[in-house]
Amino acid sequence: MPHAQTDAVAARAKAQLETTLARLGEYLSHPAISSDPTHSKDVRALAARIAKDLDALGFANSRVLDLPDALPSVAAEWMKAPGKPTVLIYGHLDLQPVKNEPWDTDPHTLVTKGERIYARGAADDMGGWVSHLAAIQAWLDVAGELPCNVRLFIEGEEEIGSPNLERFMDAFPEAFASDVMVLTDCENPSPTLPGLTVSLRGLLEVELTCESLKSDVHSGLWGNLLPDPSIALMMLVSRLVDDDGRLKLGRQDVPKAWSDDAYNVPLTDDVIRSAGRLVDGVNRLPDRGKPPAEWIWRQPAVTVLSTSLPQPGNEKNAIRTKASAVLSFRVAPGQTGDELFALVEKALENPAGGVKLTITRRGKPGHSWLYTPKGPAFEAADRAYTRAWGRGLLQIGVGGTIPFVALFGRRFGDLPLILNGVMDPETGAHGPNESMHLGVFEKAILANVHLYAELAEVSELRK
Ligand SMILES: [Zn+2]
Repeated sequence: MPHAQTDAVAARAKAQLETTLARLGEYLSHPAISSDPTHSKDVRALAARIAKDLDALGFANSRVLDLPDALPSVAAEWMKAPGKPTVLIYGHLDLQPVKNEPWDTDPHTLVTKGERIYARGAADDMGGWVSHLAAIQAWLDVAGELPCNVRLFIEGEEEIGSPNLERFMDAFPEAFASDVMVLTDCENPSPTLPGLTVSLRGLLEVELTCESLKSDVHSGLWGNLLPDPSIALMMLVSRLVDDDGRLKLGRQDVPKAWSDDAYNVPLTDDVIRSAGRLVDGVNRLPDRGKPPAEWIWRQPAVTVLSTSLPQPGNEKNAIRTKASAVLSFRVAPGQTGDELFALVEKALENPAGGVKLTITRRGKPGHSWLYTPKGPAFEAADRAYTRAWGRGLLQIGVGGTIPFVALFGRRFGDLPLILNGVMDPETGAHGPNESMHLGVFEKAILANVHLYAELAEVSELRK
């Protein structure tokens, strides 16, 4: 595809930005909140609307995919480029709830203020997949065709953890058949730095219970002779962390090239202070030779979720029978929950005072994910992003879990997976006043225009 034509398509996409925003506004007016059954009809109505629009846009086989006991997804394809690669584009149409959140404007009405648009789903994820529709529309308007084959899959249950996505993959394998996947529901580290998400931390929940007495006993009569389970519990938790209070188990060796690039992530002291809501006079934890991004994306961490230590208002001079704590571990990318759990069990052997310790795993584990982006698809993506953003993709991670990403990684790990998006640190996804930066949206659309053209030129896309 000659560059001149791609540039004409990019110019067209830019000229159509207002129309694109109007369409985005219509989609955002549907309160498609997947976690609330009273909004199931809105999810269904939006899915039907999108399928109809994709048909009008020129997609073939545009359809609402239904499975029993699941909210619908939308699929469509444009397969008129024989011999060219097929790109699968993933996004989701459902929204997080807005109930009891202090929004400044109606969450289901697109409002523009300065450089940003505000609405629930503006960036997570309506703006994400609409950035593809805008690029596709511009290609069809200018060239009458796309440079490569495209399949779209738009999920209706991402915000409830994609409980049925694997069933959709099993029931409709043809909807996912592709050579490269572009999963557009992720973040950019700033409005001028395009992000490529390559790792997720997993989740492991553990409950510790220390038990030593059959009933509470007088602390004046027995203190110093009997083990206090509350103190034993606190001593056990402190075994897990270093002098800064960070988890010291299961630390990962991260390639130096990655760490060096991670210093480009704009996690400055000021950003951490304000975004991390630090109280005046309290400093963030020190780097200790690792960039801040490495600490939140690539190293395991621990948080105390709850304890049953004696509660305020319930003081008495007694040694209690038992105490427990629920701890949440963020599992490092490339590490399994089983590996980290084994390290925790080992570190907690022989508790102080010989109290009886029980360690149990709770809840459903979240899988970590670590991906090495290399090969022609990522070289093509870097060329496309350099043309649209003025620089290539910066490899970033996500400190939390995203079930759909882990699932795509497990099912399609042999394909190049390009995880991009239209969110930035100010987006505030899942909270009040969610917004999208208009400059990011425009660059995302232009990057898509170039991405399809660059991927079309790659004959062997597999990693
Ligand atoms: Zn999302």
